[in-house]
Amino acid sequence: MLEGKTGLVFGVANRRSIAWGIGQALAGAGARLAFTYQEDRVKEFVNDLAATLPGTFTLPCDVLNDAQVDETFERVDREFGGLDILVHSIAFAPREALENPFVETTRDAFRTALDVSAYSLVHLARKAAPLMEKRGGGSIITMTYLGSDRVFPKYNVMGVAKAALESCVRYLASDLGPRNIRVNAISAGPIRTLAARSIQGFPRMEEHVREVSPLRRNTEAAEIGDVAVFLASNLSRNVTGVVLFCDSGYHVMGM
Ligand code: NAD
Repeated sequence: MLEGKTGLVFGVANRRSIAWGIGQALAGAGARLAFTYQEDRVKEFVNDLAATLPGTFTLPCDVLNDAQVDETFERVDREFGGLDILVHSIAFAPREALENPFVETTRDAFRTALDVSAYSLVHLARKAAPLMEKRGGGSIITMTYLGSDRVFPKYNVMGVAKAALESCVRYLASDLGPRNIRVNAISAGPIRTLAARSIQGFPRMEEHVREVSPLRRNTEAAEIGDVAVFLASNLSRNVTGVVLFCDSGYHVMGM
C-alpha cells in the first residue's frame, strides 16, 4: 500500500515505542523510512532497530533544537527527494508535573510539556510541507490520548498538552489541506512504553480498559501501526483533521 513512499518517523526510544510499531507497519507496507532519535543515550537502540528494516537511515533530532530540526529535513530531502509521510510520536512532561496535583503545575513545566508535546507538531509540519509538496501531497500523523478530553489521575499537564495537540491537528489540517497534505491524530489506549511508565497508576489504567472497554483488552503498538498505514495510504485520501481512536472502543463508555 505504501510502495514508493518515503516516511520520517520521530519518537522511537526502544522496541516498545509506539513509533517503532508504526515504523514496522509502514515499512511492511513498502515505505522507505528515516528514524530520528532524541539523544545519544538511545542512538544505539534506534540504530539496531532501524537496521532490521532495509533501506532505512537514522539521524539525531531533539525537537527543542532548531538547528537539528533543520538538518533533519535537509538530509531527508537530499536522501529521499521529498517526503510522503511524517510520524510525530513524541511527548514529554517534567516528572514533578506528573506526580504533584495538577493545580501545582509550574509555568516552566507547563511550557516544556506544551513545547515538546504540541508545538513540535506545528514546527515539524511546517518543515515537512515543502518536501511533501514536491511529491504532490502527504500525510502527517501524531499520537494522542483521551486524557485530552477527560481527567485521568496523574495525567495532569499531559492532558492539557494533548488537548492543544488535537487542536493543532485541526488548524494544521485547515492550513495544509489546499496543498494536499492531510493531518490526523491516532488516540491510543494505554500501551506499556517508557513514556507510559512515567504516569503513576498506569497499570490500573491498563487493567480498567481490559475490564470495561467494548473489546475487553488492551491496545498493541502493532495495532496503532496498522491504523497509521491506513492514514498514510491512499485509502484515507479524503480523511483529514480527525482524531481516530484505536483503544478497544474505551472512549465510548460512560461507566
Ligand atoms: P516512548 O517513551 O517510547 O516515546 C516517546 C518519545 O518521545 C521517545 O522516543 C522520546 O525520545 C521522544 N521525545 C521526548 N522528548 C523529545 C524531544 N525533546 N525531542 C525529540 N523526541 C523527544 O513512549 P510512547 O508511549 O511510544 O509515546 C509516543 C507517543 O504516544 C506520545 O505522544 C505519547 O503521549 C503517545 N501515547 C502513548 C500512549 C501509551 O499508553 N503509551 C497512549 C496514547 C498516546
